[in-house]
Amino acid sequence: MTYHVLVQPSGHSFEIEENELILDAALRQGVSFPYGCRSGSCGTCLGKVISGEIEYPEGLPLTIMEHEHKQGKAVFCVSIAKSDLTLEVKEVSSSEDIQIKTLPARVISLKKLSDDVMEMTLKLPETERLAFRAGQYIEIILKDKSRRAFSIANSPSNDEVLELHLRHVEGGKFTEYVFNEMKEKTILRFEGPFGSFHIRENSNRPLLLIAGGTGFAPIKAMLEKLIEEADTRPVYLYWGVRERSDLYRNDLAEKWAFQHKHISYIPVLSEFKENDIDWQGRTGFVHKAVIEDFTDLSGFDVYMAGPPVMIDAAKTSFTQQGLPEDQLFSDSFEFAKQA
Ligand SMILES: Cc1cc2nc3c(=O)[nH]c(=O)nc-3n(C[C@H](O)[C@H](O)[C@H](O)COP(=O)(O)OP(=O)(O)OC[C@H]3O[C@@H](n4cnc5c(N)ncnc54)[C@H](O)[C@@H]3O)c2cc1C
Repeated sequence: MTYHVLVQPSGHSFEIEENELILDAALRQGVSFPYGCRSGSCGTCLGKVISGEIEYPEGLPLTIMEHEHKQGKAVFCVSIAKSDLTLEVKEVSSSEDIQIKTLPARVISLKKLSDDVMEMTLKLPETERLAFRAGQYIEIILKDKSRRAFSIANSPSNDEVLELHLRHVEGGKFTEYVFNEMKEKTILRFEGPFGSFHIRENSNRPLLLIAGGTGFAPIKAMLEKLIEEADTRPVYLYWGVRERSDLYRNDLAEKWAFQHKHISYIPVLSEFKENDIDWQGRTGFVHKAVIEDFTDLSGFDVYMAGPPVMIDAAKTSFTQQGLPEDQLFSDSFEFAKQA
């Protein structure tokens, strides 16, 4: 049995399966309900049932008194739908609404995606979840209290884990440790989420998503979220790397383009190596490929992440090619400040 849920005042709607938690169904379909503990105790996901019936399988949580329940007051992280619903919820509309937390996390997997890129999956403590916007980053806190920024590579709908893509930096304190010594089950501490690199909801312009190297991480999170939301405006995904083996999730990017007519994927190699002799695709700098393809960028929103040199070069070229500055959003992967 599936029920329909309408959210006020946004007018967003989603479907919910029998026995599925309302918060889970909302996040799964890209509707940004606020939340914290996911156990009914913090009240962050508080809202109102305007019509329809909900139920608390584990009993009424402490945050809701019996008379408040009767008046429609509700928390959605521990409740399920018993009919079609109309709910009043203050959806998370900007990064400022999101709580920044310092949390421990366990490294549950370390997987080499290429010679110099590691996929690290972090699991949060059972009672914790991290609300974040697709494209944001966390800061890992090292023993000497210095910090290293890494973008979250998964969509917020899967908030039990955080996926990171770490490029090995020669002589880099943290990434040398990750590549050479770190074992699964290691506990790390981090703070986040940070950053305003996320898709703006007040625009329907076609999107140019541009990744340089591990800049693919936040772009992946954004694209996963757009797909979940069934957003069908044209998306042009450019991924610039040195050689073909650096396209460490090429399979995924090709799958997106294959499964969704509105998504185009353009990988671009900057250094043509012997192994890539049969490469039929684009070569050169990724931002140059973009300006070759689009002589007028004024009708696009551009989101780009990656090395500072790429971001700086692209900013200059794109604005010369008609892109208004307020349609350009970027995360420049600077090195951490040296302590
Ligand atoms: C918002 C944000 C998001 C990021 N997301 C990601 C991500 O998803 N994936 C990813 O791989 N990286 C990401 N980065 C970059 C990452 O944080 C850095 O590469 C980080 O410093 C690596 O840590 P490390 O301890 O291994 O290297 P560090 O110990 O920080 O040292 C790096 C090496 O470079 C040298 N160095 C330091 N500063 C400079 C400088 N300014 N110029 C040249 N050399 C310098 C140092 O001497 C050292 O040898 C992100 C950065 C930011 C700011």
